[in-house]
Amino acid sequence: MARYTGPACKLCRREGEKLFLKGERCFTPKCAMEKRAYPPGEHGRYSGRSGRQSDYSLQLRAKQKAKRIYGVYERQFRRYFGDAQMQTGLTGLNLLQILESRLDNVVYRMGFADSRSQARQLVNHGHFLLNGRRNDVASTVLKAGDTITVRSQSKQNEYFKTLKQNEATRTPPAWIEQDVNNLYGRVIRLPERAEIDGNLNEQLIVEYYSR
Ligand code: SF4
Repeated sequence: MARYTGPACKLCRREGEKLFLKGERCFTPKCAMEKRAYPPGEHGRYSGRSGRQSDYSLQLRAKQKAKRIYGVYERQFRRYFGDAQMQTGLTGLNLLQILESRLDNVVYRMGFADSRSQARQLVNHGHFLLNGRRNDVASTVLKAGDTITVRSQSKQNEYFKTLKQNEATRTPPAWIEQDVNNLYGRVIRLPERAEIDGNLNEQLIVEYYSR
């Protein structure tokens, strides 16, 4: 299945909440959820969300929301779920930790990008070194101790020069070490559940795949 390339704001409107897919814009009055907080489509405004949702519907929406937040398509998401099941501990937490450990998400968490989609694009364009080696695969799952640096050629890029000037506005989560001034970051450990935001319900996702 191809990656969704349509308007990101439609995904928020479909889920009925802000998924923060567009960086700075999500915090401004231009956010589509501020103006049109109803589902997209011809009948979206009149479809209503007040009726009781079935268990399946709740599970499906929880899964779709996680996929949309992390920008992962179905086959890959299901593979992550299989990996999470193979690990010890809680499958739901393992799944969220895998999603959080993706290279594009870590670049975003380090403050090197305003959104995950921007982080994915920066990674795809080959701007980063993972443990000293060029890596342009956004889905690479990182582990504790992995380091990310911006390639020396890319440091001359206007985008990264500006990023350094805005250093003070970038606060990483506790599981990540970040040095925007040197365009460097390191994964200290995997995130704990309380450190993963996004209003996700991993239990419903587990139930969806366990039907
Ligand atoms: Fe979602 Fe951001 Fe668009 Fe608002 S601006 S609808 S939060 S993607």
